[in-house]
Amino acid sequence: MNSSKVQLYNTLTREKEIFSPIHKDEVRMYSCGPTVYNYPHIGNYRAYIFADTLKRVLLYAGYKVKHIMNLTDIDDKTIRESQKEGKSLKEFTEFYTEAFMEDIKSLNIILPEKFTKATDYIEEMVKIIKKLLEKEVAYKSNDGSVYFDIKKFKNYGQLSRLVLEEQKENASGRIKNDEYEKENAQDFALWKAWDEKDGEVFWETDLGKGRPGWHIECSAMSMKNLGEQIDLHTGGVDNIFPHHENEIAQSEGTTGKQFVKYWMHNEWVLVDQKKMAKSFDNFYTLKDLIKKDINPLAYRFWLLMASYRTRVNFVWEALEGAETALKRLYGLYLGLDTDIGSVHKEYQNKFKEYVSDDLDTPRALSLLWDVFKDENISNADKKATILDFDKVLGLGFENLQEEKIPGEILKLAEEREQARQNKDFKKSDELREKINSLGYEVKDTGNGQKINKI
Ligand SMILES: [Zn+2]
Repeated sequence: MNSSKVQLYNTLTREKEIFSPIHKDEVRMYSCGPTVYNYPHIGNYRAYIFADTLKRVLLYAGYKVKHIMNLTDIDDKTIRESQKEGKSLKEFTEFYTEAFMEDIKSLNIILPEKFTKATDYIEEMVKIIKKLLEKEVAYKSNDGSVYFDIKKFKNYGQLSRLVLEEQKENASGRIKNDEYEKENAQDFALWKAWDEKDGEVFWETDLGKGRPGWHIECSAMSMKNLGEQIDLHTGGVDNIFPHHENEIAQSEGTTGKQFVKYWMHNEWVLVDQKKMAKSFDNFYTLKDLIKKDINPLAYRFWLLMASYRTRVNFVWEALEGAETALKRLYGLYLGLDTDIGSVHKEYQNKFKEYVSDDLDTPRALSLLWDVFKDENISNADKKATILDFDKVLGLGFENLQEEKIPGEILKLAEEREQARQNKDFKKSDELREKINSLGYEVKDTGNGQKINKI
Protein backbone atom coordinates (compact mmCIF):
# COMPACT_ATOMS: atom_id res chain seq x y z
CA MET A 1 0.00 0.00 0.00
CA ASN A 2 1.18 3.50 -0.68
CA SER A 3 1.21 5.07 2.72
CA SER A 4 2.64 8.39 1.63
CA LYS A 5 -0.55 9.73 0.20
CA VAL A 6 -2.71 10.43 3.22
CA GLN A 7 -3.65 14.10 3.31
CA LEU A 8 -4.76 15.74 6.51
CA TYR A 9 -5.94 19.21 7.43
CA ASN A 10 -3.50 20.69 9.90
CA THR A 11 -4.97 23.34 12.19
CA LEU A 12 -1.46 24.72 12.72
CA THR A 13 -1.02 25.70 9.06
CA ARG A 14 -4.74 25.86 8.16
CA GLU A 15 -3.91 23.70 5.18
CA LYS A 16 -4.34 20.18 3.92
CA GLU A 17 -0.91 18.56 3.99
CA ILE A 18 0.55 15.26 2.87
CA PHE A 19 1.07 13.26 6.02
CA SER A 20 4.63 12.27 6.71
CA PRO A 21 5.38 10.86 10.16
CA ILE A 22 8.44 11.81 12.19
CA HIS A 23 9.39 8.18 12.86
CA LYS A 24 9.24 6.12 9.72
CA ASP A 25 8.01 2.96 11.35
CA GLU A 26 5.42 4.30 13.76
CA VAL A 27 2.87 7.09 13.95
CA ARG A 28 2.57 8.64 17.39
CA MET A 29 -0.80 10.06 18.19
CA TYR A 30 -2.31 11.65 21.27
CA SER A 31 -5.99 12.41 21.82
CA CYS A 32 -7.38 14.63 24.53
CA GLY A 33 -9.79 12.36 26.31
CA PRO A 34 -12.75 13.03 28.55
CA THR A 35 -12.88 14.82 31.86
CA VAL A 36 -14.48 12.09 33.92
CA TYR A 37 -16.94 14.15 35.97
CA ASN A 38 -20.20 13.17 34.27
CA TYR A 39 -21.59 11.03 31.42
CA PRO A 40 -20.17 12.47 28.23
CA HIS A 41 -22.86 13.63 25.80
CA ILE A 42 -22.96 12.49 22.21
CA GLY A 43 -21.40 15.80 21.12
CA ASN A 44 -18.30 14.87 23.12
CA TYR A 45 -18.20 11.49 21.41
CA ARG A 46 -17.71 13.13 18.04
CA ALA A 47 -14.11 13.81 19.11
CA TYR A 48 -13.46 10.14 19.88
CA ILE A 49 -15.20 8.83 16.76
CA PHE A 50 -13.16 11.30 14.74
CA ALA A 51 -9.87 10.26 16.38
CA ASP A 52 -10.80 6.61 15.86
CA THR A 53 -11.56 7.19 12.18
CA LEU A 54 -8.25 8.98 11.75
CA LYS A 55 -6.42 6.10 13.38
CA ARG A 56 -8.26 3.56 11.24
CA VAL A 57 -7.38 5.48 8.07
CA LEU A 58 -3.70 5.43 9.03
CA LEU A 59 -3.81 1.73 9.84
CA TYR A 60 -5.59 1.11 6.55
CA ALA A 61 -2.85 3.03 4.76
CA GLY A 62 -0.33 0.62 6.23
CA TYR A 63 1.03 2.62 9.18
CA LYS A 64 1.62 1.32 12.65
CA VAL A 65 -0.02 3.66 15.13
CA LYS A 66 0.80 4.21 18.78
CA HIS A 67 -2.19 5.98 20.26
CA ILE A 68 -2.56 7.42 23.75
CA MET A 69 -5.70 8.94 25.21
CA ASN A 70 -5.84 10.65 28.57
CA LEU A 71 -8.52 10.68 31.23
CA THR A 72 -8.67 13.97 33.09
CA ASP A 73 -9.38 12.84 36.62
CA ILE A 74 -8.17 16.02 38.31
CA ASP A 75 -9.25 19.54 37.34
CA ASP A 76 -11.66 22.26 38.50
CA LYS A 77 -14.75 20.29 37.41
CA THR A 78 -13.87 16.88 38.90
CA ILE A 79 -13.07 18.50 42.25
CA ARG A 80 -16.24 20.59 42.29
CA GLU A 81 -18.59 17.73 41.33
CA SER A 82 -17.00 15.09 43.57
CA GLN A 83 -17.43 17.44 46.52
CA LYS A 84 -21.07 18.00 45.61
CA GLU A 85 -21.62 14.24 45.74
CA GLY A 86 -19.56 13.86 48.91
CA LYS A 87 -17.26 11.30 47.28
CA SER A 88 -13.51 10.99 47.12
CA LEU A 89 -12.03 12.20 43.84
CA LYS A 90 -10.88 8.67 43.05
CA GLU A 91 -14.20 6.96 43.70
CA PHE A 92 -16.07 9.67 41.81
CA THR A 93 -13.87 9.68 38.70
CA GLU A 94 -13.61 5.89 38.52
CA PHE A 95 -17.37 5.62 38.22
CA TYR A 96 -17.47 7.90 35.17
CA THR A 97 -14.37 6.30 33.69
CA GLU A 98 -16.18 2.98 33.62
CA ALA A 99 -19.24 4.55 32.01
CA PHE A 100 -16.97 6.05 29.34
CA MET A 101 -15.34 2.69 28.62
CA GLU A 102 -18.74 1.09 28.05
CA ASP A 103 -19.78 3.84 25.68
CA ILE A 104 -16.69 3.69 23.51
CA LYS A 105 -17.12 -0.06 23.17
CA SER A 106 -20.67 0.39 21.95
CA LEU A 107 -19.41 2.95 19.40
CA ASN A 108 -16.90 0.38 18.11
CA ILE A 109 -13.94 2.62 18.92
CA ILE A 110 -10.62 0.78 18.86
CA LEU A 111 -9.08 1.11 22.29
CA PRO A 112 -5.95 3.26 22.40
CA GLU A 113 -2.73 1.53 23.33
CA LYS A 114 -3.07 3.14 26.72
CA PHE A 115 -5.47 5.34 28.65
CA THR A 116 -3.46 7.61 30.91
CA LYS A 117 -4.91 9.01 34.10
CA ALA A 118 -3.67 12.49 34.96
CA THR A 119 -3.28 11.62 38.66
CA ASP A 120 -0.68 8.98 37.73
CA TYR A 121 1.57 11.65 36.21
CA ILE A 122 1.88 14.30 38.92
CA GLU A 123 5.61 13.66 39.30
CA GLU A 124 6.12 14.13 35.57
CA MET A 125 4.18 17.39 35.63
CA VAL A 126 6.24 18.72 38.55
CA LYS A 127 9.40 17.91 36.60
CA ILE A 128 8.24 19.96 33.60
CA ILE A 129 7.11 22.87 35.75
CA LYS A 130 10.47 22.95 37.52
CA LYS A 131 12.21 23.09 34.17
CA LEU A 132 9.98 25.96 33.06
CA LEU A 133 10.81 27.80 36.29
CA GLU A 134 14.52 27.21 35.70
CA LYS A 135 14.21 28.61 32.20
CA GLU A 136 12.29 31.55 33.62
CA VAL A 137 9.32 31.13 31.30
CA ALA A 138 7.30 30.37 34.42
CA TYR A 139 7.15 32.16 37.74
CA LYS A 140 5.74 31.70 41.20
CA SER A 141 3.00 34.02 42.41
CA ASN A 142 2.55 35.21 46.02
CA ASP A 143 0.21 32.36 46.97
CA GLY A 144 2.71 29.75 45.77
CA SER A 145 0.98 28.94 42.47
CA VAL A 146 3.12 28.71 39.34
CA TYR A 147 2.15 30.52 36.14
CA PHE A 148 3.39 30.33 32.58
CA ASP A 149 4.61 33.72 31.36
CA ILE A 150 3.07 33.91 27.89
CA LYS A 151 5.10 36.96 26.91
CA LYS A 152 8.30 34.95 27.32
CA PHE A 153 7.20 32.41 24.71
CA LYS A 154 7.47 34.10 21.35
CA ASN A 155 5.26 31.66 19.50
CA TYR A 156 2.37 31.99 21.91
CA GLY A 157 -0.83 32.15 19.88
CA GLN A 158 0.48 30.31 16.82
CA LEU A 159 -2.21 27.61 16.85
CA SER A 160 -5.22 29.77 17.62
CA ARG A 161 -3.86 32.67 15.55
CA LEU A 162 -3.99 34.92 18.54
CA VAL A 163 -2.17 38.21 18.29
CA LEU A 164 -1.09 39.21 21.76
CA GLU A 165 -0.58 42.85 20.91
CA GLU A 166 -4.24 43.06 20.04
CA GLN A 167 -5.20 41.76 23.43
CA LYS A 168 -6.42 44.26 25.93
CA GLU A 169 -4.60 45.06 29.14
CA ASN A 170 -5.87 41.65 30.31
CA ALA A 171 -2.94 39.94 28.66
CA SER A 172 -0.67 41.17 31.39
CA GLY A 173 -2.74 39.52 34.13
CA ARG A 174 -3.06 35.98 35.36
CA ILE A 175 -5.78 33.40 35.12
CA LYS A 176 -6.20 30.47 37.45
CA ASN A 177 -9.26 28.81 35.87
CA ASP A 178 -8.70 25.80 33.62
CA GLU A 179 -11.10 27.09 30.99
CA TYR A 180 -11.40 30.61 29.59
CA GLU A 181 -12.03 32.51 26.40
CA LYS A 182 -9.55 33.90 23.90
CA GLU A 183 -10.27 37.44 25.08
CA ASN A 184 -8.85 36.41 28.42
CA ALA A 185 -5.49 35.22 27.18
CA GLN A 186 -3.21 35.72 30.17
CA ASP A 187 -0.52 33.91 32.09
CA PHE A 188 -2.10 30.57 32.94
CA ALA A 189 -1.69 28.31 35.96
CA LEU A 190 0.70 25.36 35.74
CA TRP A 191 0.48 24.56 39.44
CA LYS A 192 -2.29 25.72 41.72
CA ALA A 193 -1.36 26.21 45.35
CA TRP A 194 -3.85 24.54 47.66
CA ASP A 195 -6.78 26.57 48.86
CA GLU A 196 -9.84 25.61 50.89
CA LYS A 197 -11.94 24.91 47.82
CA ASP A 198 -9.67 21.99 46.97
CA GLY A 199 -10.53 20.22 50.23
CA GLU A 200 -8.75 16.89 50.44
CA VAL A 201 -7.38 17.10 46.92
CA PHE A 202 -3.70 18.05 46.92
CA TRP A 203 -0.18 16.69 46.50
CA GLU A 204 2.85 17.62 48.57
CA THR A 205 5.61 18.22 46.02
CA ASP A 206 8.75 20.26 45.44
CA LEU A 207 6.43 23.00 44.25
CA GLY A 208 4.58 22.99 47.54
CA LYS A 209 1.14 21.74 48.50
CA GLY A 210 -1.24 21.95 45.56
CA ARG A 211 -2.44 20.41 42.32
CA PRO A 212 -1.68 20.74 38.63
CA GLY A 213 -3.48 22.97 36.15
CA TRP A 214 -5.38 21.12 33.44
CA HIS A 215 -3.14 22.02 30.49
CA ILE A 216 0.10 20.68 31.95
CA GLU A 217 -1.50 17.26 32.32
CA CYS A 218 -1.63 16.55 28.58
CA SER A 219 1.90 17.86 27.98
CA ALA A 220 3.22 15.51 30.65
CA MET A 221 1.28 12.44 29.54
CA SER A 222 2.06 12.95 25.87
CA MET A 223 5.78 13.52 26.37
CA LYS A 224 6.17 10.67 28.85
CA ASN A 225 4.45 8.09 26.65
CA LEU A 226 5.22 9.26 23.14
CA GLY A 227 8.37 11.35 23.40
CA GLU A 228 9.07 15.07 23.06
CA GLN A 229 7.79 15.26 19.50
CA ILE A 230 4.72 13.55 18.14
CA ASP A 231 2.93 13.35 14.83
CA LEU A 232 -0.69 13.90 15.66
CA HIS A 233 -2.68 15.48 18.43
CA THR A 234 -6.48 15.49 18.24
CA GLY A 235 -9.32 17.17 20.06
CA GLY A 236 -12.46 19.19 19.50
CA VAL A 237 -12.20 22.72 18.11
CA ASP A 238 -12.90 24.00 21.63
CA ASN A 239 -9.52 22.67 22.63
CA ILE A 240 -7.60 24.90 20.23
CA PHE A 241 -7.73 27.72 22.76
CA PRO A 242 -6.66 27.73 25.49
CA HIS A 243 -5.87 24.03 26.01
CA HIS A 244 -3.77 23.20 22.97
CA GLU A 245 -2.22 26.63 22.73
CA ASN A 246 -1.03 26.18 26.30
CA GLU A 247 0.14 22.63 25.69
CA ILE A 248 2.40 23.94 22.92
CA ALA A 249 3.76 26.70 25.16
CA GLN A 250 4.54 24.31 28.02
CA SER A 251 6.01 21.52 25.91
CA GLU A 252 8.03 23.64 23.49
CA GLY A 253 9.00 25.96 26.33
CA THR A 254 10.59 22.93 28.00
CA THR A 255 12.20 21.10 25.10
CA GLY A 256 12.82 23.85 22.56
CA LYS A 257 11.49 21.46 19.89
CA GLN A 258 8.26 21.39 17.93
CA PHE A 259 5.76 19.47 20.08
CA VAL A 260 3.23 18.30 17.48
CA LYS A 261 3.56 18.12 13.70
CA TYR A 262 -0.15 17.89 12.84
CA TRP A 263 -2.90 19.30 15.03
CA MET A 264 -6.33 18.03 14.10
CA HIS A 265 -9.70 19.17 15.40
CA ASN A 266 -13.28 18.12 14.89
CA GLU A 267 -16.19 20.54 14.72
CA TRP A 268 -19.21 20.79 17.00
CA VAL A 269 -22.47 18.94 17.14
CA LEU A 270 -25.24 21.53 17.33
CA VAL A 271 -28.76 21.33 18.65
CA ASP A 272 -31.10 23.95 17.17
CA GLN A 273 -28.02 25.68 15.80
CA LYS A 274 -26.46 25.96 19.25
CA LYS A 275 -23.47 23.92 20.39
CA MET A 276 -24.45 20.77 22.28
CA ALA A 277 -23.05 21.39 25.75
CA LYS A 278 -23.62 20.59 29.39
CA SER A 279 -23.78 24.30 30.13
CA PHE A 280 -26.64 24.86 27.66
CA ASP A 281 -28.54 21.85 28.94
CA ASN A 282 -29.30 20.79 25.38
CA PHE A 283 -27.42 17.52 25.34
CA TYR A 284 -28.15 13.80 24.91
CA THR A 285 -26.15 10.84 26.11
CA LEU A 286 -25.75 7.42 24.56
CA LYS A 287 -28.19 6.16 27.19
CA ASP A 288 -30.85 8.42 25.65
CA LEU A 289 -30.25 6.71 22.32
CA ILE A 290 -30.42 3.25 23.80
CA LYS A 291 -33.66 4.16 25.60
CA LYS A 292 -35.12 4.95 22.20
CA ASP A 293 -33.85 1.61 20.90
CA ILE A 294 -31.34 3.28 18.61
CA ASN A 295 -28.11 1.41 17.98
CA PRO A 296 -25.15 3.63 19.07
CA LEU A 297 -23.50 2.67 15.78
CA ALA A 298 -26.25 4.59 13.99
CA TYR A 299 -24.78 7.70 15.63
CA ARG A 300 -21.34 6.78 14.34
CA PHE A 301 -22.86 6.21 10.89
CA TRP A 302 -24.67 9.57 11.04
CA LEU A 303 -21.47 11.41 11.90
CA LEU A 304 -19.57 9.70 9.08
CA MET A 305 -22.09 11.16 6.62
CA ALA A 306 -20.49 14.57 7.23
CA SER A 307 -16.87 15.72 7.19
CA TYR A 308 -15.42 15.93 10.69
CA ARG A 309 -14.62 19.57 9.88
CA THR A 310 -18.22 20.67 9.38
CA ARG A 311 -20.73 21.41 12.10
CA VAL A 312 -23.63 19.02 12.20
CA ASN A 313 -27.08 19.78 13.55
CA PHE A 314 -28.50 17.02 15.69
CA VAL A 315 -32.18 16.17 15.30
CA TRP A 316 -33.77 12.87 16.27
CA GLU A 317 -35.37 12.41 12.85
CA ALA A 318 -31.95 12.55 11.20
CA LEU A 319 -30.54 9.99 13.57
CA GLU A 320 -33.54 7.72 13.09
CA GLY A 321 -33.08 8.10 9.35
CA ALA A 322 -29.44 7.08 9.75
CA GLU A 323 -30.50 4.05 11.72
CA THR A 324 -32.97 2.98 9.06
CA ALA A 325 -30.26 3.31 6.42
CA LEU A 326 -27.76 1.38 8.52
CA LYS A 327 -30.29 -1.40 9.12
CA ARG A 328 -30.84 -1.56 5.39
CA LEU A 329 -27.11 -1.94 4.82
CA TYR A 330 -26.99 -4.69 7.45
CA GLY A 331 -29.92 -6.41 5.76
CA LEU A 332 -28.24 -6.20 2.35
CA TYR A 333 -25.02 -7.56 3.82
CA LEU A 334 -26.76 -10.48 5.47
CA GLY A 335 -28.47 -11.23 2.18
CA LEU A 336 -25.09 -11.93 0.53
CA ASP A 337 -23.41 -15.36 0.32
CA THR A 338 -21.88 -16.64 3.52
CA ASP A 339 -18.42 -17.18 2.08
CA ILE A 340 -16.01 -14.31 1.68
CA GLY A 341 -14.41 -13.71 -1.71
CA SER A 342 -11.72 -11.23 -2.70
CA VAL A 343 -11.64 -7.49 -2.25
CA HIS A 344 -12.55 -5.66 -5.45
CA LYS A 345 -9.37 -3.73 -6.27
CA GLU A 346 -10.93 -0.89 -8.20
CA TYR A 347 -13.39 -0.10 -5.44
CA GLN A 348 -10.67 -0.47 -2.86
CA ASN A 349 -8.48 2.04 -4.65
CA LYS A 350 -11.31 4.54 -4.82
CA PHE A 351 -12.12 3.99 -1.18
CA LYS A 352 -8.50 4.50 -0.22
CA GLU A 353 -8.38 7.68 -2.27
CA TYR A 354 -11.48 9.09 -0.56
CA VAL A 355 -10.59 8.32 3.04
CA SER A 356 -7.01 9.45 2.46
CA ASP A 357 -8.36 12.83 1.39
CA ASP A 358 -8.66 14.27 4.89
CA LEU A 359 -11.02 11.43 5.92
CA ASP A 360 -13.71 12.04 3.31
CA THR A 361 -16.17 9.62 4.90
CA PRO A 362 -19.27 10.99 3.11
CA ARG A 363 -17.78 9.92 -0.24
CA ALA A 364 -16.60 6.65 1.24
CA LEU A 365 -20.12 5.87 2.42
CA SER A 366 -21.65 6.56 -0.95
CA LEU A 367 -19.08 4.19 -2.43
CA LEU A 368 -20.23 1.56 0.05
CA TRP A 369 -23.76 1.84 -1.34
CA ASP A 370 -22.35 1.58 -4.88
CA VAL A 371 -20.67 -1.72 -4.01
CA PHE A 372 -23.96 -3.13 -2.76
CA LYS A 373 -25.75 -1.99 -5.91
CA ASP A 374 -23.13 -3.17 -8.40
CA GLU A 375 -24.50 -6.18 -10.24
CA ASN A 376 -21.19 -7.02 -11.83
CA ILE A 377 -19.56 -8.17 -8.62
CA SER A 378 -20.20 -11.54 -7.03
CA ASN A 379 -21.81 -11.59 -3.60
CA ALA A 380 -18.69 -13.15 -2.13
CA ASP A 381 -16.48 -10.35 -3.48
CA LYS A 382 -18.97 -7.74 -2.31
CA LYS A 383 -18.76 -9.17 1.13
CA ALA A 384 -14.96 -9.05 1.15
CA THR A 385 -14.97 -5.48 -0.16
CA ILE A 386 -17.48 -4.30 2.42
CA LEU A 387 -15.53 -5.91 5.26
CA ASP A 388 -12.44 -4.21 3.91
CA PHE A 389 -14.15 -0.78 3.92
CA ASP A 390 -15.43 -1.45 7.40
CA LYS A 391 -11.89 -1.55 8.73
CA VAL A 392 -12.13 2.24 8.40
CA LEU A 393 -15.85 2.83 8.85
CA GLY A 394 -16.20 0.65 11.94
CA LEU A 395 -19.89 -0.04 11.42
CA GLY A 396 -19.67 -3.57 12.76
CA PHE A 397 -20.44 -5.63 9.65
CA GLU A 398 -18.16 -8.41 10.82
CA ASN A 399 -20.24 -8.87 13.96
CA LEU A 400 -23.52 -9.36 12.17
CA GLN A 401 -23.08 -13.09 11.82
CA GLU A 402 -24.69 -13.90 15.14
CA GLU A 403 -27.69 -11.68 14.70
CA LYS A 404 -28.80 -12.97 11.35
CA ILE A 405 -30.74 -15.93 12.69
CA PRO A 406 -34.40 -14.89 12.85
CA GLY A 407 -36.25 -15.23 16.14
CA GLU A 408 -38.61 -17.83 14.69
CA ILE A 409 -35.70 -20.14 13.84
CA LEU A 410 -34.12 -19.65 17.26
CA LYS A 411 -37.42 -20.57 18.89
CA LEU A 412 -37.71 -23.76 16.83
CA ALA A 413 -34.11 -24.64 17.65
CA GLU A 414 -34.80 -24.15 21.33
CA GLU A 415 -37.84 -26.43 21.14
CA ARG A 416 -35.69 -29.01 19.37
CA GLU A 417 -33.09 -28.81 22.11
CA GLN A 418 -35.80 -29.39 24.71
CA ALA A 419 -37.11 -32.37 22.72
CA ARG A 420 -33.62 -33.86 22.57
CA GLN A 421 -33.16 -33.45 26.28
CA ASN A 422 -36.49 -35.22 26.79
CA LYS A 423 -35.23 -37.91 24.45
CA ASP A 424 -38.17 -37.21 22.15
CA PHE A 425 -36.15 -37.86 18.98
CA LYS A 426 -39.15 -38.05 16.75
CA LYS A 427 -40.12 -34.52 17.68
CA SER A 428 -36.54 -33.27 17.46
CA ASP A 429 -36.24 -34.68 13.91
CA GLU A 430 -39.50 -33.06 12.89
CA LEU A 431 -38.26 -29.75 14.19
CA ARG A 432 -34.97 -30.16 12.37
CA GLU A 433 -36.86 -30.69 9.13
CA LYS A 434 -39.00 -27.65 9.78
CA ILE A 435 -35.88 -25.56 10.38
CA ASN A 436 -34.39 -26.91 7.12
CA SER A 437 -37.55 -26.07 5.21
CA LEU A 438 -37.17 -22.46 6.37
CA GLY A 439 -33.65 -22.27 4.94
CA TYR A 440 -31.53 -23.03 8.01
CA GLU A 441 -29.66 -26.03 9.27
CA VAL A 442 -28.92 -27.04 12.79
CA LYS A 443 -25.88 -29.02 13.91
CA ASP A 444 -25.13 -30.46 17.33
CA THR A 445 -21.68 -29.59 18.63
CA GLY A 446 -19.86 -29.92 21.94
CA ASN A 447 -21.06 -26.42 22.75
CA GLY A 448 -24.70 -27.06 21.95
CA GLN A 449 -26.54 -26.38 18.72
CA LYS A 450 -25.08 -24.38 15.89
CA ILE A 451 -27.44 -22.78 13.41
CA ASN A 452 -26.45 -21.76 9.90
CA LYS A 453 -28.19 -20.49 6.84
CA ILE A 454 -28.28 -23.22 4.17
ZN1 LIG B 1 -5.65 17.56 26.57
